[in-house]
Amino acid sequence: MSTIPSITLNNGTRIPQLGFGVWQVEDDAAEAAVRTAIEAGYRSIDTAAIYENETGTGRGIATAGVPREELYITTKLWNSGTKDWSGPQGQDAVLREFDASLAKLGLDYVDLYLIHWPRPMHGSFGNIWSAFEKLAADGRARAVGVSNFGPAQLDALREQSGLVPVLNQVELHPYFPQDELRAYHAEHGIATEAWSPLGQGKTLLGEPALVQVAEKHGRTPAQVVLRWHLQRGVIAIPKSVTPSRIRENIDVLGFELDEADLSALAGLATGERIGPDPQGFDWN
Ligand code: NDP
Repeated sequence: MSTIPSITLNNGTRIPQLGFGVWQVEDDAAEAAVRTAIEAGYRSIDTAAIYENETGTGRGIATAGVPREELYITTKLWNSGTKDWSGPQGQDAVLREFDASLAKLGLDYVDLYLIHWPRPMHGSFGNIWSAFEKLAADGRARAVGVSNFGPAQLDALREQSGLVPVLNQVELHPYFPQDELRAYHAEHGIATEAWSPLGQGKTLLGEPALVQVAEKHGRTPAQVVLRWHLQRGVIAIPKSVTPSRIRENIDVLGFELDEADLSALAGLATGERIGPDPQGFDWN
């Protein structure tokens, strides 16, 4: 498990390059899934307030028997449109949401706290980021970052604050490789984290070009896709509630994709997202 590579973030902290995501895992199933993942060797867990499974995730963390300092826990602020995030009261609201997440997780700090969506149609998220600066300064969030941000929102944050998000968690898989955004991130010292790294386990894993690469290496299509993320310097957080898949998805270290494999995977890019486009997406 210590062989899972890690990436150094712009604040000097390190994040494992492969983590375990728990979106769409019911709260009462999260404990077993997270424990199975930690037993399989995962050290990084990705949850969010809106997943409504921070309590089960926290139980899995508590019962897995691994010291807290060896784990890397991410959760996210649900900057819901039903709350007023502007002004000083917006900052207090963030701190309350953060406290609620910590209490559910049963932790006294998280390794990474993210703004879940930019919601650009609602204007500035500056007050939210000010609260994130406070959490980072207090050390209750060892690192702070964003999710689903585009260059326009990242530019706005950089203009407002000296605190650059450590990473941006975005949809990224071979159908949608995000090369332009990755280049922007690289230029500004922001790491790239892939959500839905397996393309949600749907048609992607049956693509003939991918299956061929998998057969060549005696691996599964999921393992090849995760290997692709690692070799591109991207952090991936695959989700599964199936114990055999949880173990399969972390067994990605004993092989290397060559140029021909990488170009076969590059050929899968369609430019199509599975999820919504964050620039136009609101959930209210
Ligand atoms: P993934 O790409 O991780 O795919 C998960 C799906 O693939 C599940 O249905 C799972 O099935 C299946 N699967 C997993 N492993 C395998 C395998 N080896 N072979 C075949 N099928 C497999 O999608 P997610 O959308 O869950 O993304 C991963 C994580 O990213 C989320 O859990 C969440 O933490 C994060 N995320 C963040 C978002 C954001 O806005 N910031 C948005 C979406 C996701 P089963 O569980 O039945 O085994």
